[in-house]
Amino acid sequence: MTILNHILGFPRIGFKRELKIAQEMYWSKKISKSKLKEIGKKIRIKNLKKQKEMGLDFLSVGDFAWYDHVLSTSMMLGNIPKRFINSNNKIDIDTLFYIARGVSTDKKSTNPSEMTKWFNTNYHYIVPEFSKDSVFNFSWKQLLKEIDEALLIGKNVKPIILGPMSYLWLGKTYELNFNRFDLLDKILDVYKNIFSCLEKKGIKWIQIDEPILSLDLSSEYKKNFIYSYNYLKCNINILLTTYFGNISHNLDIIQKIPIQGIHLDLISGKYNFADLKKNFSKDLIISLGVINGKNIWKTDLIKYYFLIKKILKYRDNIWIGSSCSLIHVPVDIQQEKKIKTELKTLFSFAVQKCYELYLLSSALNKNKIDLLESWVLPLLSYNQIIKNNTNNNLKDKILSLKKKDYQRKNSYKIRYKKQKKKLNLPILPITTIGSFPQTQDLRKLRSNFRNKLINKKEYKKKIFKIIKYNILQQEKLNIDVLVHGEPERNDMVEYFGENLEGFLFTEYGWVQSYGSRCVKPPIIYSDISRSKPITLDWIKYAQSLTKKPVKGMLTGPVTILLWSFPREDISYKIIATQIALALKDEIYDLEKNGINIIQIDEPALREGLPLKNIDKQKYLSWAINSFKLSVSSVKDSTQIHTHMCYCEFNDIIQSISDLDADVITIETARSNMEILDCFKNFKYPNSVGPGFYDIHSPNIPQKNNIIKLIKKSMKIISINKLWINPDCGLKTRTWTEVNNALKNLVSATKKIRSNIS
Ligand code: GLN
Ligand code: ZN
Repeated sequence: MTILNHILGFPRIGFKRELKIAQEMYWSKKISKSKLKEIGKKIRIKNLKKQKEMGLDFLSVGDFAWYDHVLSTSMMLGNIPKRFINSNNKIDIDTLFYIARGVSTDKKSTNPSEMTKWFNTNYHYIVPEFSKDSVFNFSWKQLLKEIDEALLIGKNVKPIILGPMSYLWLGKTYELNFNRFDLLDKILDVYKNIFSCLEKKGIKWIQIDEPILSLDLSSEYKKNFIYSYNYLKCNINILLTTYFGNISHNLDIIQKIPIQGIHLDLISGKYNFADLKKNFSKDLIISLGVINGKNIWKTDLIKYYFLIKKILKYRDNIWIGSSCSLIHVPVDIQQEKKIKTELKTLFSFAVQKCYELYLLSSALNKNKIDLLESWVLPLLSYNQIIKNNTNNNLKDKILSLKKKDYQRKNSYKIRYKKQKKKLNLPILPITTIGSFPQTQDLRKLRSNFRNKLINKKEYKKKIFKIIKYNILQQEKLNIDVLVHGEPERNDMVEYFGENLEGFLFTEYGWVQSYGSRCVKPPIIYSDISRSKPITLDWIKYAQSLTKKPVKGMLTGPVTILLWSFPREDISYKIIATQIALALKDEIYDLEKNGINIIQIDEPALREGLPLKNIDKQKYLSWAINSFKLSVSSVKDSTQIHTHMCYCEFNDIIQSISDLDADVITIETARSNMEILDCFKNFKYPNSVGPGFYDIHSPNIPQKNNIIKLIKKSMKIISINKLWINPDCGLKTRTWTEVNNALKNLVSATKKIRSNIS
């Protein structure tokens, strides 16, 4: 039997972020709805044609989304929370944007739906909402339209649909005494309806994504899983796709449901092939996810050639695929003009990953391993080169680290007193998370410098001017702990990567983070070290302008690692330690130069958490340690802050507290300050700033509302340990929004302070 190849999804943002540009133009009314749709269609067609050209056997459809694929699923299932429904009941793309952004085309505003991280990735999805009276119907038929488009390009169209169980799991309910499974039958009926529409279109295979199979599932989920898939049985073949981890612990479910194929992620899940042999029936297609959908290194296709040959000895119905969707990698390495050719041959972006699948399936089908050799050779020789070029100094330094290198000298209690004396802050100190608005002019300035259109001196002068402006604004607003505003940073990871040894950069290596927001992760391609100060000049200058404390601003080791594409020849733990040592030197320099508060952002800490409980501790232990290694040698009187956002923290609150940061500012606003419940149950020993408003929405928080939230927090967090701040950086907002929002934040705080005294 021939081995077929497929991918679990292709990046939707366009080769040059066309989707982002179009979305933002549409939101600011610079292009019409039909223009937006036209651009979306162009992207989809180009993606499909490219996949076909690269030699994929299936055209995958349903991976495109106007904002997020979970939100598209909510739209497809007709699950629209009441507050977003228009008087005319019309559901269209504007409804979708309204749910995501909280502002409608006719300028109405409400709380957007929550957004949170998609499993252990830096992709954020819009959280579905469930309530007793949720209704479901197949009203928004974007998927069918896309299938028709695809059928004009090729016959073998495979729709991708998020499965009902993962959909239910990903959602949220705000009602007590309500079980989301009460909605299951209604939801399944819509799926049935969708499947029958697909059948009418002649679809042979559907890819149903059930990533929750990588998690530890409760018996209720297991039971309903089996129930649902038996209920959904139909005439189309179902390829059940799992990813982000091993699913061996849930095989009992797989064995009890009528599916025709199962996809396994062989990159993040280690499978025991004897088990595979025993546990899957011979008729089931097994799709092997061997091309890493989360990293950009070429695949050692020869290794997989031999592995799959072994499997083929006992079963023949094998497909090969990407480990997960390719939305987590950039689109096409061929667009990169600045990376040297010999380095370029080490990497595969989405387009090249499609080609790798074609190469591997051809080699297997034709029994010709030599088809793979020239592709793999550069990678194998590079691995040899870096092995020979290890930085031995660094290696020794890491080997000689002692327990005390990971611990602050004294306890929080002692530090608290010393910091209080030194910093002399008011009660309920107000601060921000770091960045201030990044205007068009500022971006232009940075890109001019990058492209050598202005010299360093000129550039520095202009950045200083912006820092001065930021400081002035904060003083006017009466903020207590100031920041320089990060004008020199395009991105919180890229900036550090650019100033450390060991990183490589792309021009177009964008990956969607949420909605129209994309990030450009650097590539870690050798040992990491710091040869010069990174942030010192900026922060020192900012501090020279004011009597108030300026908070130094760094990105933490875990976040730098996880938001890069790391090398694959050494462990994450070692890479994180290398970064931590570099940051430690930076922190030392800041402290020496009179910076008494330093924030180390770790927004990615939670996302690195493995999905299964048994794997979590190991990760947390090195992740926490690398943070502590970077900060622990500061004086007692130096206040260390950290910041985290966009995920559920409840289950790792112990580890967050183990970081032993003096202050943590944490995202909470969009989830209605739910994090506070967590502090109710867990006595967090140090200080906390639970973000008091959602910076991701253009809405201005009202003073009274902030007062309410502060009061609510004061019931849970001791007033001496409570900080007041927005829930994340302000770089995506305009100055008008920022000024208005912070004005309200400050006056709300002052009101409370005056009540207290
Ligand atoms: N200091 C960063 C900023 O303010 C933090 C960003 C983040 O948490 N993602 O932009
Ligand atoms: Zn944040």
